[in-house]
Amino acid sequence: MSDMKIGDITVTPLMDGSGLECARDVLQRHGSASEWDKHPDQVDDHGDLHLSVGGFLIRTGESIVLIDAGVGTIDNGRYRGGLFLESLRTQGVEPEDVTDVAFTHLHFDHVGWATKKGQVVFENATYHVHAADWGFFVDDVNSEPGAVRKLSPLESRLETFTETSVLAPGVDARPAVGHTPGSTVYVVSSQGAKLVLLGDVAHHPLELVEDGWSFAFDQSKDGAVASRKELVDEFADTDALLAAGHFPDLRPGRVKTVDGSLTWHTL
Ligand SMILES: [Zn+2]
Ligand SMILES: [Zn+2]
Repeated sequence: MSDMKIGDITVTPLMDGSGLECARDVLQRHGSASEWDKHPDQVDDHGDLHLSVGGFLIRTGESIVLIDAGVGTIDNGRYRGGLFLESLRTQGVEPEDVTDVAFTHLHFDHVGWATKKGQVVFENATYHVHAADWGFFVDDVNSEPGAVRKLSPLESRLETFTETSVLAPGVDARPAVGHTPGSTVYVVSSQGAKLVLLGDVAHHPLELVEDGWSFAFDQSKDGAVASRKELVDEFADTDALLAAGHFPDLRPGRVKTVDGSLTWHTL
């Protein structure tokens, strides 16, 4: 998995494992699952979509930042993880070297390595998340017990935000809500180059170019579609790279208009 050089900043995909979802069930324009017939090469013989699961390492020179923390050491038949710390160490980074961990949102497949058996994994890091996601997944009366167990140990080192904010020089948190109440993308900029880490604003590159597609786990379908459209409108046909933790092999790409239609171009 190769590094991306965004000016002075290095961004490296970190693989943790993989996930499996029935393509027609999870990703479609409402009532139009047959649209997958146009993309037979994107699913396996069972119609399943293979998702990467992982995160991204950002090295700015001063800060060592993780965007998301994989799914952790689980294997539930559909989602399987375990490689995240190994992927990090391959880059010469030990868990205690990490200065910041920033979550795109708090679904289980993005916070797996935040803690292990109640212990904080990246012990020297500050943790960043949109306040609305912390409220929804951890603080609310209807919060998820699994999320509370996994995330509560982070509370004393947590910094929440509600609007666009600087995470580190050249790394901005920018709310793009809809998939969850506090879904956030992270924009890496340096020397005129730009990379947008999309979280689950898109689970698959096709979601960026197929008009109106939405994902079954989007909590607000309209919000997710609007946030995605705003980002596509802003970054299509520019030099900005787009990447997300579930894209095939975590590879980045660009959205370009070709013959009047949006198309995805993997780097
Ligand atoms: Zn999600
Ligand atoms: Zn996800």
